[in-house]
Amino acid sequence: MLTGYTIGILGGDARQLEVIRRLSEWDATLILTGFDQLDHGFTGAKQVDFDEVDPGRLDAVILPVPGTNTDGKIDTIFSNQSLSLTKEWLEKTPKHCLIFTGITNKYLTGITDETKRTLIPLFDRNDVAIYNSIPTVEGTIMMAIQHTDFTIHSSKVTVLGLGRVGMSVARVFASLGAKVKVGARKSEDLARISEMGLIPFSMKDIKEHTHDSDIVINTIPAHVLTASVIQTMPTHTLIIDLASKPGGTDFRYAEKRGVKALLAPGLPGIVAPKTAGNILANVVTQIIIEKLGEGSS
Ligand code: NAP
Repeated sequence: MLTGYTIGILGGDARQLEVIRRLSEWDATLILTGFDQLDHGFTGAKQVDFDEVDPGRLDAVILPVPGTNTDGKIDTIFSNQSLSLTKEWLEKTPKHCLIFTGITNKYLTGITDETKRTLIPLFDRNDVAIYNSIPTVEGTIMMAIQHTDFTIHSSKVTVLGLGRVGMSVARVFASLGAKVKVGARKSEDLARISEMGLIPFSMKDIKEHTHDSDIVINTIPAHVLTASVIQTMPTHTLIIDLASKPGGTDFRYAEKRGVKALLAPGLPGIVAPKTAGNILANVVTQIIIEKLGEGSS
């Protein structure tokens, strides 16, 4: 149980509602900010303005999945309030305070390092990233259906990257009957792609493998779908770029060439916020208990 722990939840999207519900079930005391436009209250949770939050009381802070932007600003889907996480604010938290985020950036890592607070980027954990790949794939299927006039079955699908998302995407599209090729740079990944019954190719040869693709799904957070790669694609190709912002696609050139290219961030929060929130809540609860011990009344 999390009895006796006070947790601040600062902004976020629908995933955070599930996190709030679950942490409340575990009996944590919750201080919420950035949820003032929601109609319903949360039993056992206190909604306050950001400047009313007393950081000195917090055992943990939960940031939205994207963390902060590069200036410290926090996304608030359910509020017009502007929330900013600063070094000065973090310094007021107790030394043991855990700072949870989905992903981090230079700013967030910098201020947590400088204040010697423990930052926990949840998506760095393999378990979270793999569970999260499930709703990501479902969202990708939704986008492929919405933005094409052909079936996934029998279409030529090229997946770039065989990481946690790439592997799930490749496997599920293949199981829907697509002809799936996967591009990777490590020879062990090429071997795994073969073992999965899919067609492997080295990223060095990307142009030879995207020139006849119906759908290209990028999971590589690097500039891999360059203008010269897009130039060789048929104009009916749909690019779904899953990599974190800014994605790996030359969107300007794709538009000029008439190739539809979509950056699709945050799919789990869009297609399955309850599941995605549950994944986060489970691991947050587990980490708090591991690091701070079982709560006590
Ligand atoms: P991951 O496990 O780290 O996989 C990344 C893949 O990209 C690996 O295969 C990696 O290959 C490859 N890669 C990285 N840099 C490369 C480069 N310069 N050239 C060629 N290959 C390169 O990451 P993940 O968990 O699969 O996530 C992939 C991306 O999707 C991330 O940006 C993540 O934030 C994003 N994401 C988006 C959503 C969404 O809803 N859109 C959901 C979840 C995750 P190596 O192993 O050889 O480095």
